[in-house]
Amino acid sequence: MTHVVKPNVYLVSRPAVDWEQIAALLNDENVPPIPESIRAGGDESAAIVEISARLCYMSFGRGRKYIEDFVENLLTKGDGSVFEHVNYGFVITGVSRSLTHELVRHRAGFAFSQRSQRFVDESEGLYVMPPAIAREAGTGSHVESIFENALKKATDSYSELVSALEESLPEEMFDSKWDRRKAVRQAARSVLPNATETKIFVTANVRAWRHFIEMRGAAYADWEIRQLALMILEILNRETPLLFGDFEVESLPDGTQIAAPKYRKV
Ligand SMILES: Cc1cc2nc3c(=O)[nH]c(=O)nc-3n(C[C@H](O)[C@H](O)[C@H](O)COP(=O)(O)OP(=O)(O)OC[C@H]3O[C@@H](n4cnc5c(N)ncnc54)[C@H](O)[C@@H]3O)c2cc1C
Repeated sequence: MTHVVKPNVYLVSRPAVDWEQIAALLNDENVPPIPESIRAGGDESAAIVEISARLCYMSFGRGRKYIEDFVENLLTKGDGSVFEHVNYGFVITGVSRSLTHELVRHRAGFAFSQRSQRFVDESEGLYVMPPAIAREAGTGSHVESIFENALKKATDSYSELVSALEESLPEEMFDSKWDRRKAVRQAARSVLPNATETKIFVTANVRAWRHFIEMRGAAYADWEIRQLALMILEILNRETPLLFGDFEVESLPDGTQIAAPKYRKV
């Protein structure tokens, strides 16, 4: 049985500004050029937020001089809609089906593409060990063996069901061998546990990511998704500290970490 204990998080898409087009806009509108109008400079994510917010009041070249004050004012006032222009996409692997079931509950501003258990063979038996069980592993505790035995039974049952259905489902019921294989796998997957490893491509805007990290980085969230929320926060904070720098990470006595924003639910 193969186990994964930590997600792999790949940042695969990030926003980009077409500075020539922005310069043309500022020129056409007879407002000061970059950088007097757009103070976020090289931080493309903060620049997108700034451009969209300044467009509302046509305040290019006016108002707050420092981008830090500008963004903080938006966060303080809860002017969250301008954060929706900035999208980041992650491919996440090494997470459980129970984690992704929680992840896909986040609706506003999210897009998901997940590995299909109907199309893809699951007999490889790759599972995610929950952090609480991973802590016990190697200590001689019988927690690990209970987990192992349950997964072994599930993997065996999955393979047995695939073989039995491949023999029994009549070929004439299906238009193609692909449809038949899908019917076999979609039935056999019913015995797979929540711990089954999965892969998911998730894109969301900054407003949505902030909400996700606030909800899933909190102490009452499941340890596995909390770990993922903190990994995503670390990456996004590196990418654009102005848009995520107000989150504070704290270590708990149980060895896990939580994250909370200064500005809640913008
Ligand atoms: C610790 C924890 C425990 C949980 N336990 C359970 C549980 O036992 N059972 C369960 O079913 N779920 C549970 N959830 C999931 C939770 O109820 C939410 O479905 C999930 O956190 C997504 O939150 P959200 O709806 O705010 O996010 P999103 O869907 O991303 O929405 C973001 C915000 O947009 C607004 N919004 C989105 N859609 C609508 C809409 N249709 N109408 C009006 N406003 C909208 C809301 O303000 C919402 O907060 C739990 C979540 C957490 C963090």
